[in-house]
Amino acid sequence: MRLSDLYPPKPRKPIQALEAKHSPAPRQSAQSGAADAGATPARRLFLLSASAAAAAAAAGLVPRLVRPAFADDSRRAGASAHFEVAFSDAEWRKRLSPGQYEILRQEGTERPYSSPLNDEHRAGTFACAGCAQPLFSSRTKFDSHTGWPSFWTPLDKAVGTRTDTTFGMIRTEVHCSRCGGHLGHVFDDGPKPTGLRYCMNGLAMTFLPQAA
Ligand SMILES: [Zn+2]
Repeated sequence: MRLSDLYPPKPRKPIQALEAKHSPAPRQSAQSGAADAGATPARRLFLLSASAAAAAAAAGLVPRLVRPAFADDSRRAGASAHFEVAFSDAEWRKRLSPGQYEILRQEGTERPYSSPLNDEHRAGTFACAGCAQPLFSSRTKFDSHTGWPSFWTPLDKAVGTRTDTTFGMIRTEVHCSRCGGHLGHVFDDGPKPTGLRYCMNGLAMTFLPQAA
């Protein structure tokens, strides 16, 4: 896979940089530093691919920040946020597989083309692997050629977003609105009718085929 498949060839200045004059600086996640310090071997793999992404950022190959109208930075995925479904870190570790935990609770990223959901083309619903909340309809799934399941819109009120400034990039993080589990990011290079690309981790979701 080429880097240009992941990042569009004509990057534009992040909207956030323009907004910065008028809005308070985005708060950093208090969790990320601690999580990185205790990096597991799996986490290091994720960080390795992330550093490639950071290199892309340095080269100016970063998609424009998406700031959807429903962006709600008050519902943060961090420990301080309050979600309808909440468990202690130890409980999440028990409930999720190591891979799911890495993504949903530590904002990891799976390897592209590693999830079977990338090739899931049946009619049905993609739900949160953390709390089972329905997130995306198969009707809004499209092949983004990135290796991650991609959608042009989520189900109503299914996800929340916040600004993610990790790895030297400004991106819009997407999480489940019910449990706060990290799902992926949203970019503005998607297809019509929204022009958005919800780039999701397959491990963060389960698929429920539509009943016949
Ligand atoms: Zn959830």
